[in-house]
Amino acid sequence: MTQTRTIFDRILEGEIPCHRVYEDEHVLAFLDIGPLSEGHTLVIPKERKAFLHELSDESAAAIGRVLPRLARAVIQATGATAYNILQNNGAEAHQAVFHVHFHIIPKRGERGLGVGWRPG
Ligand code: C5P
Repeated sequence: MTQTRTIFDRILEGEIPCHRVYEDEHVLAFLDIGPLSEGHTLVIPKERKAFLHELSDESAAAIGRVLPRLARAVIQATGATAYNILQNNGAEAHQAVFHVHFHIIPKRGERGLGVGWRPG
């Protein structure tokens, strides 16, 4: 599973475009192509791992460093009053792309995670 090349590898390698909002040595963030709300952002490690529990300490630390900053940026850019951080692992948990990713889903008044999200 971990070695499988996913659509996010193609984005990381510049093969297909994305709306990039942040990049550093370890992390890329871009707007979700099917947003649950305006500003829905995905944060991914450059390391190719399917599941959170497989991630190296280095990638985990890098993501941990940037997530709060990116959440602040999303709030500022969208005027969100709240947001969800969502991270799915495994098909039964509704993971569709098997490359670790964190969703930042901004909210402005609405409750819940939004249309299209189902609890595992
Ligand atoms: O957590 P899960 O694996 O279900 O989410 C995958 C996410 O990747 C979806 O929200 C989907 O819209 C997004 N996606 C994307 N760009 C692609 C393919 C999928 O933003 N090219």
